Amino acid sequence: MTARDYAGQPVVVAGAGISGTAAARVLRDLGAVVTVLDSNGEALERAAAEGFRTGTALPRDTSLVVTSPGFRPTVPLLVEAASRDLEVIGDVELAWRLRGPSSAPWLALTGTNGKTTTVKMLESMLRAAGHTAVAAGNVGLPVLDAVLAPDPYDVIAVELSSFQLHWSSTVVPHTGAILNLADDHTDWHGSFHEYAAAKARIFAADRCLANADDPVVMNLLERAQGQRITFTLQAPRPGQLGVVEHLLVDRAFPNVPGEGTEVAALDDVSLAGDHNVANALAAAGMARAFGVPAEAVRDGLRAFVPEPHRNALVRVVADVAWVDDSKATNPHAASASLASYRPIVWVAGGLLKGADVDELVRVAAPRLRAAVLLGTDRAALLDALSRHAPDVPVVEVSRLDTGAMQEAVDAARSLARPGDTVLLAPAAASMDCFRDYKQRGDLFAQAVEALS
Ligand code: ADP
Repeated sequence: MTARDYAGQPVVVAGAGISGTAAARVLRDLGAVVTVLDSNGEALERAAAEGFRTGTALPRDTSLVVTSPGFRPTVPLLVEAASRDLEVIGDVELAWRLRGPSSAPWLALTGTNGKTTTVKMLESMLRAAGHTAVAAGNVGLPVLDAVLAPDPYDVIAVELSSFQLHWSSTVVPHTGAILNLADDHTDWHGSFHEYAAAKARIFAADRCLANADDPVVMNLLERAQGQRITFTLQAPRPGQLGVVEHLLVDRAFPNVPGEGTEVAALDDVSLAGDHNVANALAAAGMARAFGVPAEAVRDGLRAFVPEPHRNALVRVVADVAWVDDSKATNPHAASASLASYRPIVWVAGGLLKGADVDELVRVAAPRLRAAVLLGTDRAALLDALSRHAPDVPVVEVSRLDTGAMQEAVDAARSLARPGDTVLLAPAAASMDCFRDYKQRGDLFAQAVEALS
């Protein structure tokens, strides 16, 4: 469908969140007859106030459904759409169909963890090279708003979640990258296989960048049709970006064929941990695929400002470092974080979303001074700790409201010794006790700021 084809079409926008609202406005501007569906009354009122038709069920004359990425294919509305053979797409797919191929190239990335950090590093590198670039997608700015911006961008750094990829079918990025792949969101997708299949859609790209240190990602790369490039924390081979002593080196797009081009130093990566070096290499690979000079990669990394709640040092009190990694919402993220510090008083727990924590705890055990557990699923962590770290003291916080964080910080304080890091890396979602990971991290930081 071209932009003109939407005129007069009865289109349903399912979900009146940020991206849904962006989609509804764009479709209305194209002349579509838009109905916004949502089960949340307040969201519907907002949509009605903007003049949209609203409701909770699919109108009979619907010709296309644009769904919020969070909606599972099993929600009744989408099951009904499928049974009526209606096409269901996401807002990212809509953006691609409207402008994708003809507007700014998309440098798109996905992965279980590190997406936002990497897409912001990439945005910074592109800007350092003088491009008018923006990070869009799962990072916040809807892709539709980026592709339709009144002052067009030269290039768009796109962060895509597995949900957004699930609802995209024809997107072909200039470069597509997968950072890593671990168990997450299998409840949404039905199985790990389906989750990985959604992620693999990004490899419809002309250039495909993969993490050579992640066998699951490399397995997906085998089926990619585009040019293959990889990154590694080891010394790079031709076609790779990697690490040589204290340098990040590009042998995929070298300045002199056959050689390696130094693009930055390890010290230019401001965030702690090898996982952030991997993120920097991925961003560098995508920037270099787009022709960004080595100096701009370095300058972009130096100018990069980390997002809050991602390995953020809150404060050092009495020689104890307090680190907020509230965004570590699954075991894979927490494990990268735990590998970055030692000894650790670990503050963990929340909603595990069915994830297994046994391996995480087994690997982290030698680094742990103590653990403070909170949240609904803390028993699974307690159980793993009793098996793999029986000598590590554990304090449980049993209340399931926001006050849990103050208790956790108090407990951590009494357990920490000089030289330790108290690390909030919950390995779990936050919604049992907190509004979201941001509130969880903010309450941690507030309690830490108040320590005398
Ligand atoms: P996402 O957007 O994929 O959620 P973020 O950049 O927001 O990723 O980082 C989320 C958390 O994941 C961080 O707080 C950190 O704990 C962890 N993390 C970041 N990068 C990686 C990586 N490359 N591998 C594993 N974990 C990571």
